Formats: sequence, structure tokens, C-alpha cells
Amino acid sequence: MNTQKKTNAINEILTYAKTSPYYSKRIQIPLLHSLNDLKTIPLTTKADLREQSPFGLLPDSNMLLSQYHESSGTTGSPVSVWYSETDLDEIARGITRCGANFNPHDRVLIRFPYALSTISHFMHRSVQMQSGCVIPADSRTTVTPMPKVIDLLKRLKITVLACISLQAIMLAEMAEMQGLEPKRDFPFLRAICTAGEPLTPYRRKLIEDIWGVPVFDNYGMTEVGTAMVDCTQQHLHMFEDYFHVEILNDDFETDVKPGECGNLVITTLRKRATPLIRYATGDIVQEINSSCSCGRGRSFVIRGRKENLITIESVSFDLYEIEKMIAPLPARRFWSAGKITNTLYLFIEKESSTDRIHVNDIEKLKKMYGVNISIILLDKGTLYDRTDDVSFGMKGKPRYFLNDQETANLLNKIKTN
Ligand SMILES: [Zn+2]
Repeated sequence: MNTQKKTNAINEILTYAKTSPYYSKRIQIPLLHSLNDLKTIPLTTKADLREQSPFGLLPDSNMLLSQYHESSGTTGSPVSVWYSETDLDEIARGITRCGANFNPHDRVLIRFPYALSTISHFMHRSVQMQSGCVIPADSRTTVTPMPKVIDLLKRLKITVLACISLQAIMLAEMAEMQGLEPKRDFPFLRAICTAGEPLTPYRRKLIEDIWGVPVFDNYGMTEVGTAMVDCTQQHLHMFEDYFHVEILNDDFETDVKPGECGNLVITTLRKRATPLIRYATGDIVQEINSSCSCGRGRSFVIRGRKENLITIESVSFDLYEIEKMIAPLPARRFWSAGKITNTLYLFIEKESSTDRIHVNDIEKLKKMYGVNISIILLDKGTLYDRTDDVSFGMKGKPRYFLNDQETANLLNKIKTN
């Protein structure tokens, strides 16, 4: 979409959004003359959405609402998002661009939460839109614990597994606990589709090593649904006709230099039941401004949540940087990180009892980052309890980053064991 077309599209959405109670007060300026004028509109934050939920963002239209979702914040009241039938169809159509290329021969096991969260429903609709068959295996119900999922994967000859990336690793662990070998014993599996947390290239490689199939990622959030999917070349392309994005410096006013990481701010370009103007997503992203061999233009790298960042002596460690450190180690499946004073602690569960970290490897990392780093290998089950295979993997979103207290507690627990 060229700049003039995009400015027109945004103007149309601004006029529409201004019919909602929230944006009627929020958007003061008349129409935009250029894309730059958009920056005069204040950002919409998660706190704003919370305050406006459940009805404050609904535009005054006779649009029929079709589906309701809310994000499961750990603090404060939930954020409400409404979708119309058209919204749902557009998002599902966007997902059909995923490099996994769902087809009528597919049996896709969806292992995301279904209750109130979005991704399971969008993926479900998209698979069916491409005549594939869905096996809904909710990740947060006792009806489908991990052993049941392993049984379904085998018995139904599942071709695509859709789940958060850590769940794909946990399912492999569960299969191994049952004496199965993921690469050998699931011959019909041809792809894994991940969503719900940033997928670093290191974790993608880990999952592909374990399962022996390609992994395709999906980026989105409850507030806007899926916004990007991996192409066949495994690069995340945005649905350019649905969204306008800005990548801002920490001042939240100026754009980052091309190719730099920054704060993702998203504006919906379609007349959605819940339009969002300059929504600060809380995610750090990087734009790759070169064309992709799949034939599409720019792509994006999701670096992680801004809140998930450990900073030591002005060196920052995000999910991406930590998984890069873990990638060459013998154990890389389950980890947590934290800091105490000026030391970065990396806790990693052993994959085999003989796993060792060499002093040289740690020295190399210390030198590379210029901060003190301690890598501690833990027995299997320390971070993710495996004693009960029904509750294993049933937790909410995994927590990779520990606060100071949690880090101290874990260090104490290890010492006393
Ligand atoms: Zn591509």
C-alpha cells in the first residue's frame, strides 16, 4: 500500500473509530494530511483498554458482534475485545498465508487454550477455511492432558500440531517419557505451528531437531488477533492490508532507525468491532526491510516483551539473547533466567544426567557480554515438575524471567537440595 493510500485508509478508520466513546474523546485532530500527522494522536495503552472494557471501544455502528475474547492479565481487570463475523473471516484468511499451507488432507491438532483466548479459534477457522480437519485439544482442560494428546497425535495420524513453542518441547518430553521417539514415532506429522510467545531462531531449531519437521510461527495478540505469519521461508510477514505499524524509540515519539529494534505500535486499518489506533503492544520488534524469497516484501523479527528484559551494567538480555547463549549448550529445552546484583543466572534443566557445562564456555560468554554470568544445570523436573503427567504442561504461559526474589528462592532451593 503506498503512502497516500495508507493515509486515506487511516483517515477512514479514524472517522469510524471516533464514533466509539473512547476515541471520540481521544482523537482531537481533523483528518491526517500525511502519515506523519498520525504521531500527533496519543498512544492507546493496555491500561486505556482496561479502563474502557468491556464496551468503551465499540464504534457506534449496527455491526453485529460475533465473538468475545479477553486477555488474561495477571494484574488488574481484563481487556475486552469484540470481533464481528467479517473480522473473524479476515483474520482466518490472513492465517491461510502461513507457510504450513493447510490442505484438505490435514488433520490439525490445536493445542492452544480455547477459553476466552483468541489464537485457537482463529487457527481453527483458518484450517477449516482451507478444508483441513481440526482436532481441538485445549491446553488448559483436564479433558486433554499431555498423555491424551500423545495418544491423539498417534491414533489420528495428526499432520500438523499447533501449540505454543514450549508446549511442543513438553509434548516431546512426554512422548519420550512413554518410550516414544518424536522423530520416529509420529511419521504423519509434517509441520508444527507455534504462536503465543516469541519464537527465536534458536528455539525453532531446537523444536525442528526434536521433531524433525519445519516450524511456522504466528504473531498476534488478543487485542488485534493474528497480525503476522511465517511464510514458506519462515519469515514473519505482516498482514500489510490490515495493519499500519510504527517501530518507536523508548521516547515513544520518534521512529527507530531502519533495522533497529524498537517498540511496536499498531493501528488497525479495517473497520473492526474493536478498532485500535496507535496501540502500544509492549513488544519489541525489528523490521527486516529486504524482500523475501517467498515473493513478499518486508518481514519482522519479534524480540520479546519489553517487560521481559534483564539489564546488568547497561547490557540487556532479552529472550532472544538468552536463547542464543543457550543454543550451543548440551541442555537447551527448559530454562529460567534472573539476576542478583550484577550476576546473570541461567538455570537450565539437564537433558541427560551426564550433561556438563565447561568453564571455558562460561568464560567465553562473560567476555562476550562483559558481565558476570553463572549457568546452573538442574535435575530434570526442577523447573517443570514431571511427577504427575496429567498436570505436566497444564500451567498458563511459561515464565522464563524470574524476579530477584524468585531467583534468590531458586538458588536457596538448589543449595538445600
Ligand atoms: Zn517470505
